[in-house]
Amino acid sequence: MSIRISKSKFCAGVQCLKRLYFEVHSPELAEEPSAADQAIIQQGHEVGMLARTLFPRGVEVCERSLDQAIRTTRELVANPEIPAVFEGVFEHGGVLVKVDVLHRRRDGRWRLIEVKSTTDLRDHHLEDIAIQYRVVSRSGLDVASASLAHVNREYIFDGQEIDARRFFRIRNLTLRVQRLQPKLTFQVRSQFTILAMPQSPDIAPGRHCTDPVTCEFFDHCNPPRPNDHIGYLPRLHASAADELRDMGVESIMDIPDEFELTEIQRRATTCVQTGEPWYSPELHELLAALKYPLYFADFETVNRAVPAFAGMRPYDHLPFQWSVHVQRKPGAVPEHYEFLATGSSDPRREFISSLCAALGESGSIVVYSGFESQRLSDLAAWFPEFGDRIAPIQTRLFDLLPVVREHVYHPAFAGSYSIKSVLPALVPEMSYRGMMVANGQDAGLAWESLVRGELGWDERDRIRKALLDYCALDTLALVRLRQKLWQI
Ligand code: SF4
Repeated sequence: MSIRISKSKFCAGVQCLKRLYFEVHSPELAEEPSAADQAIIQQGHEVGMLARTLFPRGVEVCERSLDQAIRTTRELVANPEIPAVFEGVFEHGGVLVKVDVLHRRRDGRWRLIEVKSTTDLRDHHLEDIAIQYRVVSRSGLDVASASLAHVNREYIFDGQEIDARRFFRIRNLTLRVQRLQPKLTFQVRSQFTILAMPQSPDIAPGRHCTDPVTCEFFDHCNPPRPNDHIGYLPRLHASAADELRDMGVESIMDIPDEFELTEIQRRATTCVQTGEPWYSPELHELLAALKYPLYFADFETVNRAVPAFAGMRPYDHLPFQWSVHVQRKPGAVPEHYEFLATGSSDPRREFISSLCAALGESGSIVVYSGFESQRLSDLAAWFPEFGDRIAPIQTRLFDLLPVVREHVYHPAFAGSYSIKSVLPALVPEMSYRGMMVANGQDAGLAWESLVRGELGWDERDRIRKALLDYCALDTLALVRLRQKLWQI
């Protein structure tokens, strides 16, 4: 049977020919898509459906069989009564493409539109659209333009109905995709050549494994690295990693003293080489600036492409949960306060009013990253009546992340200052292991399933508890981390 290349396989091949080869000949080596991957796919679907509302009376090609879908597309295109075709399928020269939208112009020519849930044009979108332009044009359609419809981050939802005209930005890329055509001829030819080979091409893993997307064969090509691998140096630039590899250096233990590294990287190198953690002499003084009562705060949010409530823009973070631990005086047992929205109505006002009450009027509020401050700014913009209460809270925030980044290193950080790496290294008795919700992404997905209202009571309770446990652990982790650093 002759091989056909779909648009997604072509794009996979542009990223890496070995990826294309595996997708066709060894798909069983791929990792299963995670729940987060599936959520992204679902979101792309939602955005795609919204884009269709821009073309009333458009008709979708639904056939599962590709050959039938091609025939139906041909019929729809030939019918002048049909103003737009969604998911039309075309084939030329063994390449198959499915086009999000084909819009019939008044002069009978066609606009080809690819819909993406990103907020801008990315380089790899060009090849994606160019291959569609090539196949559709060569199938005999008179394509007047090729465009990308992406999400407009500036759109503000009024709370009524999403205005698709303002939600999307449509960029005409015709000239750019036309200029890519000669290169495409070469790429398509080499992809068919590679696919006809008895074995996968010998391509070493590298930057292309995660750019423009993380390859589904990543784990297959990139076996786990030893703890002292140079990839575990904080923010090591790819060119510096290449330079080290060219010198035959794969282990941090072997990095020469004269090799140029940033101060933080050099510090991490020394820690790994000696096996000893490092704490700066200023650490104690910095932590002494904290004022009791000490609050330890963490927020959970979801950021979806299609905004859910008035005043929100695409991808704005919708806060749905907070946890606060309070230590009233040195040595006191921390008290815990929390909020979790469990209904489908707008959680923002209740979130901020309950948070303001929990945070009191004075005392430092310890957070880990600038995330909480940004969310407070969002809330102040949405609810100006809370502005006078939010501003003083923001002045009380104490971000522990830059303190750890500049003043602490432990060999077990493995190049990462995220709380999920720092906590087990410095407070090994605490861990997120085995938790049903173990990171912010899990929390967002769990919360969405909770408020969708499709779960039984037992499952709802289980998810509610998992969310509360996770967020509470995040702030208790901050309590213990501060304590540990203070003791040092
Ligand atoms: S993991 Fe990297 S080298 Fe392996 S197939 Fe994917 S992109 Fe290619």
